[in-house]
Amino acid sequence: MRRPLLFLLALLICTSCTPPADSPPNIIIIFTDDQGYADVGAYGAQGFETPHLDRLAQEGVRFTNFYMPAAVCTPSRAALLTGSYPKRLELHEAVIFPFSEHGLNPAEETLAELLAPAGYRTGMIGKWHLGHRPEWMPNAQGFEHFFGVPYSNDMDSYLYKNPPFQSPPLPLMLNMDEIESGPDQRYLTRRYTEAAVDFVEQHSNEPFFLYIAHNMPHVPLYASEDFAGSSARGLYGDVIQEIDWSVGKVMQALVDQGIDERTIVLFTSDNGATVGENIGSNAPLRGGKASTWEGGFRVPMIARWPDRIPAGSVSDGLSSAMDLVPTLTGWAGAGPPSEEIDGIDISQLFLDPSTNVSPRDELLYYGRNGGLEAIRVGDWKLHMAKTRGWPGDEPFPVSLYDLSSDVGESLNRAAEFPNRVASMSERMRFLDSSLTAEMRSAAR
Ligand code: MG
Repeated sequence: MRRPLLFLLALLICTSCTPPADSPPNIIIIFTDDQGYADVGAYGAQGFETPHLDRLAQEGVRFTNFYMPAAVCTPSRAALLTGSYPKRLELHEAVIFPFSEHGLNPAEETLAELLAPAGYRTGMIGKWHLGHRPEWMPNAQGFEHFFGVPYSNDMDSYLYKNPPFQSPPLPLMLNMDEIESGPDQRYLTRRYTEAAVDFVEQHSNEPFFLYIAHNMPHVPLYASEDFAGSSARGLYGDVIQEIDWSVGKVMQALVDQGIDERTIVLFTSDNGATVGENIGSNAPLRGGKASTWEGGFRVPMIARWPDRIPAGSVSDGLSSAMDLVPTLTGWAGAGPPSEEIDGIDISQLFLDPSTNVSPRDELLYYGRNGGLEAIRVGDWKLHMAKTRGWPGDEPFPVSLYDLSSDVGESLNRAAEFPNRVASMSERMRFLDSSLTAEMRSAAR
């Protein structure tokens, strides 16, 4: 009698803890801040190791032509979560500061708001940076659970202590409550990791979307004592090694819960690394954060989804963070956004990466001041203006690069291809004026 009873009990426990076979996949997006294109082992990192990220790439797909549609934090995050060019949302100019009085319009549908009706539990851990009034914060934009900070880790009283504004110490929040003022930033990565593991454990029996947005490696850099001094690349390498450890912890939590096979894990960065000494690397790309050179916009992107994404694959297809909203909602069986967005379903680049045929064939590069500076069409990139990243104060020459043979944007071909320059600049003007005409408003 005892054995059948135990079996029945085990069966009952099992049915209550295992999601039904047809339930949608869990989705985790791990998003770092200012991590350069070359700052992952699988992308050629020097001076530090990222074994967990490299394993993610070995078990999934690594993208080589994946772009954020912005080179700074706020517009990049707006695009990731809504699938739109930041200009469509009126969030294309600079970033939100502690004194700013605007945010992501709650009328916009975030990925969390799109997934919730399909049965997803939603959590966000880390840096928000889409407006810090309560009605613009994560809990009001589709996330049931939030643990993190409202904006960048440098927006703290120790840096912003002079007029025209005085920033408060960085607020650490649990949902709508500030639970600490000016937390010790050495432990942010660790604390976010613990919160992420808790979330996975709490929701392992139901579909979930977890957005983990690390503050690191945005400056000022901090690593816990377990990682400080651990790499040959100084504090920057230490910080990335701690982020890599964090990725390993989240993956282990999925394995421990028996759900790693049914969880899509994506890893990417919000923009390129700042160019300078003792900081990240965008090699072999030109420029970095805040510039419309490739180093500002092109970021590492790795995705793992066992049985669906071929292990150890590389996708060279042109793709944007905006494309994740239509792609992921499609996989989740969630409805599309009700308003127009700019993302395109790029499922084929994940599920059949060897084709390298992308449904996306063009991208716009808006500068930090909100002006349109460049366009990519196929393998060609045209720069019409430059607000930062060009040496000195020289007037900026119209520049055309063939990225298929010159990913470092070193050989200006504009004089050779005047017709291409004309058609691409016309296309830029057309797309920008369309976005301007269709622009929705930020919240104020
Ligand atoms: Mg950033």
